[in-house]
Amino acid sequence: MPVLKNVGLAVTCAAAGGQDAIHPIRRAALVWNSDDGRIVWIGEEHALPAAYASMPHEDAGGRLLIPGLIDCHTHLAFGGWRADEFERRLRGESYLDIARAGGGIASTVRATRAATAEALAARARTTLDAMMRLGVTTVECKSGYGLDRDNELKLLEVYRDLETPVRIVSTFLGAHVVPAEYRERRQDYIALLCDDLIPEIARRGLASFCDVFVEDTAFSIAEARAILRAGQAHGLRSKLHADQLHDGGGAALAAEVGAVSADHLEHVSDDGIARLRDAGASAGAGVVAVSLPIATLYLQAPPMPARHLIEAGVPVAVATDFNPGSAPSYHLPLALTLACTMQRMTPSEALKGATLYAARAIGLDQEIGSLEPGKSADFALIDAADVTTWLYHFQPNACAAAWIRGQRVV
Ligand SMILES: [Zn+2]
Repeated sequence: MPVLKNVGLAVTCAAAGGQDAIHPIRRAALVWNSDDGRIVWIGEEHALPAAYASMPHEDAGGRLLIPGLIDCHTHLAFGGWRADEFERRLRGESYLDIARAGGGIASTVRATRAATAEALAARARTTLDAMMRLGVTTVECKSGYGLDRDNELKLLEVYRDLETPVRIVSTFLGAHVVPAEYRERRQDYIALLCDDLIPEIARRGLASFCDVFVEDTAFSIAEARAILRAGQAHGLRSKLHADQLHDGGGAALAAEVGAVSADHLEHVSDDGIARLRDAGASAGAGVVAVSLPIATLYLQAPPMPARHLIEAGVPVAVATDFNPGSAPSYHLPLALTLACTMQRMTPSEALKGATLYAARAIGLDQEIGSLEPGKSADFALIDAADVTTWLYHFQPNACAAAWIRGQRVV
């Protein structure tokens, strides 16, 4: 059984306590089983049981040990980029203006439909490799740039077939926007999602979650409710893009349908926060609020009111929202630093948001997200003395090494 010794500081990010409880252990050691890839023991090195003390070990060099980072919201595979829209927004056009003029998501849909599965997979793998080098060990990947039967399935099959050590979790986002060809008959598109694609995707095990973008230019509350309920009827748990560009009641809908997460929430109302709070109080784990500060930054939007959510007892995760329009960066540690500077989360709160609470946002908190015996041996070594120093002194990459399922990948 491999042993990691000379850890300057380990943070387990175990569930006990609130958002800022990351459970530090000074001068720590970690033991895992390389056969089943699970953590066996973690604690202070001086307390290492004799049975493990003589086993071959690796030296952490006094570094910071964290659970493998989890990016719980990405649009990983897509065709093209949208640098032109970046400049148009800087010149004063809004995201919604560009979307209404046929740009935005619709422009990425055209490029994604034109791309082969092989090309999409090659690009996704390159991105995943770069994410892994940053200490990211699990990535949630959404469809939503195909928006027809063949191309939505193509994206989910790309995710299913990716050859990567990174743990992949797939989400069906056919309800990203209504594609242009259905603009005059949106009910037909919703029927395609609910009656055709959701049953097939569930039957073939191509996704674990069903996501809907609730927004003026996308789907109404009533439409989202119908799509999410259809997903649930086939075993797909619910996620929402909610209250991003204005308060559209998305948070309340997330609470109503028992969604696993409500993502964005830059414009969530006090009532929406109260509904999320009450959902958590009545339904165990409740809804995770997923903040996406890179998108907030690029759209120059007001930040998600993370402090209000945390003080209400709603767990706040942090993810990149990696996509070609509003968040063209997959750098999760950058998102963590921005969660601190823009959303006034402490570094400890931000880290718990990209480990245990991110795991909760993809329904895997019993398997990953913290350093505890029995959990998957997914962890990373960070070149910093502690979490605050790491996220304060932003560097291109502070990750020195990473393991997934007990195998070293970086
Ligand atoms: Zn998104």
